[in-house]
Amino acid sequence: MTDSSVLDLPADSLAPPNADPAEIAKFEQLAARWWDKHSEFKPLHDINPLRMGFIDAKVDLAGKTALDIGCGGGILSEALARRGAQVTGIDLGEAPLAVARLHLLESGLEVNYERCSAEDYAARHPGAFDVVTCLEMLEHVPDPASVLHASAALLKPGGQLFVSTINRNAKAWLFAVVGAEYVLNMLPRGTHDYAKFIRPSELAAWARAAGLTLGEIKGMSYNPFTKTYRLGSDVEVNYLMQFTKEALA
Ligand code: SAH
Repeated sequence: MTDSSVLDLPADSLAPPNADPAEIAKFEQLAARWWDKHSEFKPLHDINPLRMGFIDAKVDLAGKTALDIGCGGGILSEALARRGAQVTGIDLGEAPLAVARLHLLESGLEVNYERCSAEDYAARHPGAFDVVTCLEMLEHVPDPASVLHASAALLKPGGQLFVSTINRNAKAWLFAVVGAEYVLNMLPRGTHDYAKFIRPSELAAWARAAGLTLGEIKGMSYNPFTKTYRLGSDVEVNYLMQFTKEALA
């Protein structure tokens, strides 16, 4: 945990953010290249259709309110907006949000971007969203359980949460750290910290404690020979989970 002043957040931030300034700084430095499909962000561009397919199979986004937590430059936020959702994207990085706002001029889409933590946003907008997404972000946060609590609070009863992150085991270390950062040079070295990876059982337990019910889990695997990703049953490295907030009885 850090104090808000370290991140230079607005004075009306409700609590010290659940954020690691070094993690936010990593993304600030790279932000200008966020929409360059040949940059460090290539993996996010490549997996976006797959994760949108996972979301589309669960919810018709047209007319829904959606919150994208840790939205970065807006790759997922824009895809949600393209489906007709009314989208808000939040992040603690200033540069990624500036890039996300600029990109709307190019795409012509509407997304409301705000610099805010999930916890602060939940305190201000409880029960406001049909859909909450938090993709490739939890493995950069000091207290991921707190983000799950905030996500549950942000959802309307019956709303759905989509989360993706990286599993913690020898294969995940080999593929997500050694392979992606050192062998294939797909990501800058130091992008991922193995200790922050999250086992699906841990994520599911935090979600359960927050009042969320696990619906589906799918693995996302990368084939370095064909340079393609696919969704399947192998959850040992990257995985996606879908949860529902129970409707009130
Ligand atoms: N979710 C986006 C971006 C993933 S990159 C996508 O999948 O396309 C991770 C993002 O999480 C970065 O933009 C970073 O600034 C943000 N982030 C890291 N820690 C955060 C925190 N504690 N609160 C909010 N955003 C955070």
